[in-house]
Amino acid sequence: PQLANQIAAGEVVERPASVVKELVENSLDAGASRVDIEIDKGGSKLIKIRDNGSGIPKDELALALSRHATSKLHTLDDLEAILSFGFRGEALASISSVSRLTLTSRTADQTEAWQAHAEGADMAVKVMPAAHPVGSTIEVVDLFFNTPARRRFLKSDKTEFTHIDEWLKRIALVRGDIHFTLTHNGKTVRNYRPAMNEAQYLQRLTQVSGRPFAEQALKIECQHDDLRLSGYLQSPWSPVITDTHYFYVNGRLIRDRLVNHAVRQAFAQKAELEQPGYVLMLDIDPHQVDVNVHPAKHEVRFHQSRYVHDYILQALQSALEEAGE
Ligand code: ADP
Ligand code: MG
Repeated sequence: PQLANQIAAGEVVERPASVVKELVENSLDAGASRVDIEIDKGGSKLIKIRDNGSGIPKDELALALSRHATSKLHTLDDLEAILSFGFRGEALASISSVSRLTLTSRTADQTEAWQAHAEGADMAVKVMPAAHPVGSTIEVVDLFFNTPARRRFLKSDKTEFTHIDEWLKRIALVRGDIHFTLTHNGKTVRNYRPAMNEAQYLQRLTQVSGRPFAEQALKIECQHDDLRLSGYLQSPWSPVITDTHYFYVNGRLIRDRLVNHAVRQAFAQKAELEQPGYVLMLDIDPHQVDVNVHPAKHEVRFHQSRYVHDYILQALQSALEEAGE
């Protein structure tokens, strides 16, 4: 099983940012409202994620580190209509096979916390008492210490940290309800306070995308049958160059040419912008999309992609027209 875990790790754990992604998604799946991310040396020395979610019961701690132990998939219909981030049950096992991993957790109905430690090839997991409030802390130390080829493949600490920071921006924009902090080498680099109303969300958008984009962005809010589109579109009267291009389908960031195309088409003849910025969230019946096209889940396939495209285009066009009046 150890070899299988390391092979799976090749798919799941490409670099420190992919570890952060898997662990933070677990925290969100566990209903956390606050997630603190601590990084040392770009993540090659330490990745520490602390959340205030539901915690893991003592008797499931060791199990959580074994492959295909997911608590999130119950029926085949779940698989088709997946809403939670994790469902393959291999992230923790994969990460622990290529690092020294410590999981400390307490559930609301336990009076004390417990800690499980797994170290690379030695998969014998030890469980010990510990101190921790309700929630979990996962510490990943010396990532790839036992897979030197992968370790050599890592870029500079600064580059690896930038990947983590960029990933956090994406999740911060779609999960305004979550308080995120990000620390690098002991210094707090990001503090995204919970955004519970629109003004606070615009503050977060300013933190992520900068004032010129956020201050003038056009609000998108559109509901039609089973589709809902919301978010912000760059104003044609604020033609700053931005790398804010975020499209989420049911809360998941998706790379899709469909939305780029719709945005460019909506902007045709409106501004000189090569690629206008946007943060758009599409909510759609999960049965209308296949999310498992790509193992990293960055791609989806819409069953009715023409319909979705035209819906987005129309929503953007009417927002632009309204703003122009
Ligand atoms: P998956 O997320 O696909 O189920 P993982 O390997 O990422 O698989 O996690 C295994 C299991 O460990 C999860 O199903 C969940 O029950 C538990 N778990 C992991 N991280 C957390 C967390 N931060 N809070 C609560 N439970 C967690
Ligand atoms: Mg997971």
